[in-house]
Amino acid sequence: MACFEPEQPLALPAWSPEVAPEPYRIKAIEPLVLTTRARREAALQEAGWNTFLLRSQDVYIDFLTDSGTSAMSSTQWAEMLRAAETLTYSEAYDRFVETIRGLYGFPYVLPTHQGRAAEHVLSQVMIRPGQYVANNMYFTTTREHQERAGGIFVDVIIDEAHDPAAKHPFKGNMDPEKLRDLIRREGPEQVAYVCLELNVNMAGGQPVSLENVRTIAEICRSHGIPLIFDATRAAENAYFIKMREPDMQARSIPDIFRELMSYADGVTVSAKKDLLVNIGGFLAVRDAALYRRLEQFALRFEGHPADGGLARRDLVAMAQGAREMLDEDYLRSRIEQVAYLAARLRDGGVPIVEPPGGHAVFIDARRFLPHLSQDQFPAQRLAGEIYLASGVRTMERGIVSAGRDPKTGRHKYPRLELVRLTIPRRVYTQGHLDLAAEGILEVFARRERIGGLRMVFEPPTLRFFTARFEPTV
Ligand SMILES: *Cc1c(COP(=O)(O)O)cnc(C)c1O
Repeated sequence: MACFEPEQPLALPAWSPEVAPEPYRIKAIEPLVLTTRARREAALQEAGWNTFLLRSQDVYIDFLTDSGTSAMSSTQWAEMLRAAETLTYSEAYDRFVETIRGLYGFPYVLPTHQGRAAEHVLSQVMIRPGQYVANNMYFTTTREHQERAGGIFVDVIIDEAHDPAAKHPFKGNMDPEKLRDLIRREGPEQVAYVCLELNVNMAGGQPVSLENVRTIAEICRSHGIPLIFDATRAAENAYFIKMREPDMQARSIPDIFRELMSYADGVTVSAKKDLLVNIGGFLAVRDAALYRRLEQFALRFEGHPADGGLARRDLVAMAQGAREMLDEDYLRSRIEQVAYLAARLRDGGVPIVEPPGGHAVFIDARRFLPHLSQDQFPAQRLAGEIYLASGVRTMERGIVSAGRDPKTGRHKYPRLELVRLTIPRRVYTQGHLDLAAEGILEVFARRERIGGLRMVFEPPTLRFFTARFEPTV
């Protein structure tokens, strides 16, 4: 009898599991320390109730960021370890460029040390001072580089993106009317480019539909305006398209991904997210003349255009990560982990931003602690309480992060007062998610007895990193 060789890959199991299992097993571990409540109280006090100032060894589960925190695969590690021995720089570069060309479909690829470096190069080359750049919401470094280049940032995302309760399936979409208005008002030659971010980070990883991408691309083309993607989380976006958009279910992820990319003139990417590496990024474009200008500029800031200041091992790890990020089983497990944590919180009555996105769950601290005013820093307090309950580190995204108005010196009072739980890729198991959810439900049960905070130290800028607080009760 012939040995067992299935003709098709086995899809296990025959029934449909409620939660997608992790499609990998764990080969190397990093021990985590379970701390006592007393130890956590001391640590939080030392950190001035600022979760950024906690020491990692006092954190059990770290939901601070999904950037550069992914677990790499055995193949990525193997490639990295062998890269310097077995590949010349140009072989590593070729392998990286060939892979990105193949998956994304852009002929010209320029590695950079991370995403913001790609944004720096692109903005400086493509924006003339005084020109507009249309975006869907904003990412901090994207906007910063557009403005540093003299650009005028404009947000043309749909209104639903700003409403934490709106259940739109593609909350990252651009509003075509807002974009047309801008072009009509300022003239197409005054719009440097349209910057469309896929799976909008600041909205919690909210996707853009393929239909919306086609519409926006058509508007750009008819006015001769370049369309650039911030494709940092484009693979996760492709998964949402497959799940949520009509007639997409039968298509493969690489196929959807490739069509998505076909509408852009260029992309900037932070490889620290989708590409499952700890460092790296790139720019890719279709136009040879534009590429030459980008390359010239990059030379002064990023190193040689063939490495972007990265080592051979970083280039091959990115190439391998790019192949792994489009694996549907991986993406399903990734997105469903986020959905699972969101569901456990929602089922327990915890107010969260709906629907949950691709990389984070946001808790609405205003509705969690309705008895506190925004001046009492409810999200900051809640992040501290979650840490005390279970050693889970989260981040404030509310009045502390928003800072002060430089003119009046008053707090900015943002509309959203949130706590962010960002899930690293391939790092935590369902047991970790259960523990995090249970800790938050324990805090929720005693929410009425939770008081506010007083800020006792405030740095002049980016206060959320280093400000210190004391509980008022
Ligand atoms: C992280 C990120 C960036 C910046 O990338 P870095 O690698 O951190 O420099 C840009 N855009 C988006 C959407 C991001 O999430």
